[in-house]
This record gives sequence, C-alpha cells and structure tokens, in this order.
Amino acid sequence: MCSFANSSDSYRFGLAEIQRLLSWIRDSDIRVVRFTGGEPLMLLELPCIVREVKRTGRLTSIITNGWALPERANDLVEAELDQIIVLRRISTLCPAIRLRVNTVVGPHNIRQLPAMLELLSDLRIEQWSLIPIKRDDRGFAARSLDEQLVALRVFQKALAARGNIGPKIIGPGAELLGRSSTEQEALWATGRNMTPNGVCNLVDIVRYYTPKDGLVYPCNCVPHREGQSKTSEVATPRSFSEQGLVEVRDWLKQYGPTTCTGCEPANVALGEESLDLDGDPLAY
Ligand code: SF4
Repeated sequence: MCSFANSSDSYRFGLAEIQRLLSWIRDSDIRVVRFTGGEPLMLLELPCIVREVKRTGRLTSIITNGWALPERANDLVEAELDQIIVLRRISTLCPAIRLRVNTVVGPHNIRQLPAMLELLSDLRIEQWSLIPIKRDDRGFAARSLDEQLVALRVFQKALAARGNIGPKIIGPGAELLGRSSTEQEALWATGRNMTPNGVCNLVDIVRYYTPKDGLVYPCNCVPHREGQSKTSEVATPRSFSEQGLVEVRDWLKQYGPTTCTGCEPANVALGEESLDLDGDPLAY
C-alpha cells in the first residue's frame, strides 16, 4: 500500500494552481503534463484542468488507481486527455485515450506475470510498466533471488513468444532484477533497484512539481526517498527552464546512478536516453 492510501490530507489541486503552473512553464520545452496523486480522479475539476493544459498545446496524462474510471472516462475523453496510466482497475472504456498499466512486481506476484501478459494483450493495453517492488518493502525477500529469476525467465519466454503482439514493456522492465547476472547479484546484495548505466540524463528532461509545498524536483523518484531530501527547490518559472535546479541536476546526473535506490525502469531508460521522446512524447 502506498503512503497516500487512507490519507486525510485536505489539500486539493485546482484551476488556480494549474493556471499558475502553466504561466511558469509557458516558455519552457515541457511537452507533457502528467498528473499523479493522491488520486487525480478524486478531483471534480480534472477535466477543466486537462482542458487548460491542452489549450497550451501540450499533451496530458494521468496516473490513477482506476477505480473511478468507469464514471469519469467520458469527461476525460471530452477533455481530450491523451494518456491514462492505471494501477489497478483496468478499463477499456477509453478508446480515444492511450492506456498504460503500471504493475509493481515482487515476490508476491512475479509468477503471475505471464497470466497478466495474456490479460493485458487481450485488453489491447498499449504500454506496460513493470516496476520492481521497493527494496525496503518487508515482502521483498519473501522469495530468493534464484526463485524470482526462474519466474522472470518464464515471463521473458512468454514475452518473446508474443513478438510484437501485446503491450510494449517500458524500458528494461522485463529485466527488472538486473540486466546481467553480475548486476542481479549486486543489486540483490546491496538492496537497490536498477539505475541508468553511466550518468542519469533524465534530470535534464523531467520536472516533478509537488504543489502542496511548492517544490520542484528533477526526477519523480527522488522525493519519495529518504536521504535525498535536498534534491528540490522552491518552484519559480526558472525551475522549469534549463537554468533551473542546476546544482541538484549536476549532482544527480553524476551520482544518481550509484546512490539512488528507487529508480523505475522507465526512468532507467530515460536516464540512458534510450526512449524516443521526439517520436512519441508519451513513451515515458
Ligand atoms: S538515477 Fe533514477 S532515481 Fe536517481 S535521479 Fe536518475 S532517474 Fe531519478
């Protein structure tokens, strides 16, 4: 369960906040605005917020648990939302909107990946992000590395048998325990997840804004990690430009790959610049 579950936080993002954010990013290169949570579908104003962004010519995306999708999907289609990233309740109700499924993978479900692949293929889900469970999760070591690798290989075979049919796995998600036996053993021994090889270029591409406290980070993963609290600055228009967060970005670019513990495979791929965002800005 994530830290947002059962939250009693009364803060709500609204139209005034999106208008302020859009004025800040007006002259920036930002092409996609993605809303996460909490739960974006709890916001009754969400379709209006999406429309505000679309008016500026940018693409829009939400990350949702999916429970309210059947009730809210039509409004989102009318608002011309571009992408839904869904965590739980999968819906095919939104043919006009691109669908991605995010799945946190760990000992509890790694053996179910082939069945999930079948399901997502049948539902014609376009993208699938496989996110390794946090290494500090108490369930992480419920199965040995070898047991998990056996299960992962079964999945990889099922994936290979499908060829290009079925959801596209984002980044190195199908190798979520490591891309070589050396890396698998090292990650297991040190309790870390995969990070980009070399330097992390994601920090030059992404801005993660937390409106409640008005902070901006150069990566969506670092705000949630202990020991990396000095990775943000108070948001200003400059934060979203090439001149923003320079010191933090320089540090993370160089040291993130050896110190970050909670990288997602999509972030690994973007950090290594192996996603073609010019061809598809929603590939990340
Ligand atoms: S290494 Fe991963 S978690 Fe760290 S800044 Fe780069 S993408 Fe973010």
